[in-house]
Amino acid sequence: MLTEKSASWKFELETPELGNPEAVTSFHAETDTEQLDSILYDGLEFTFEGPVIVDAEARWADSDLAVSLRISAVFSAPCSRCLEPSRIEILDDFLYLYSLRKKTSAEEASAEEDFHVVPVSRWQRFFDISDHVWESIVISLPRKVLCSADCEGLCPQCGRPLRNGGCGCSPKEVDPRMEKLLGITIEETPE
Ligand SMILES: [Zn+2]
Ligand SMILES: [Zn+2]
Repeated sequence: MLTEKSASWKFELETPELGNPEAVTSFHAETDTEQLDSILYDGLEFTFEGPVIVDAEARWADSDLAVSLRISAVFSAPCSRCLEPSRIEILDDFLYLYSLRKKTSAEEASAEEDFHVVPVSRWQRFFDISDHVWESIVISLPRKVLCSADCEGLCPQCGRPLRNGGCGCSPKEVDPRMEKLLGITIEETPE
């Protein structure tokens, strides 16, 4: 389940002068976080804690348009083990290549390279990169959120977080029928 980008999510970049390899266009944008719903992704809810900062730059690479994106954002999401709200910062660079080439060859290229090829039908004065900014953010989100690497999760008896010396429950209070179950380690998906 993934939240769709909101209607107010709009980023457009001006096309650099055609045929001029020196031409560069760019923008710096900060979103109004109040207008953004949290992102539901992979069973986790990521709430925006500040503006999304987007820096984009476009220049010609032969006949394709290379767009570099730098995206920075801060989220809050519940720790996967103890459910405490945890702060997540993302800062990532992405490269998109907008190309007039046919879609089939573009798909082959993107499977091998560390940039994404986006087929376009023609060059316009401005082009919409909203989807790719959104995609870049979602790709950057962690698959697992931990408040700290050694978070011990919740007490199986009282349900309170075990951090900071625990909750005071005595292990002896465990129902003997539960003891076997407590020995089981839950397998976690590798990072
Ligand atoms: Zn935790
Ligand atoms: Zn407890």
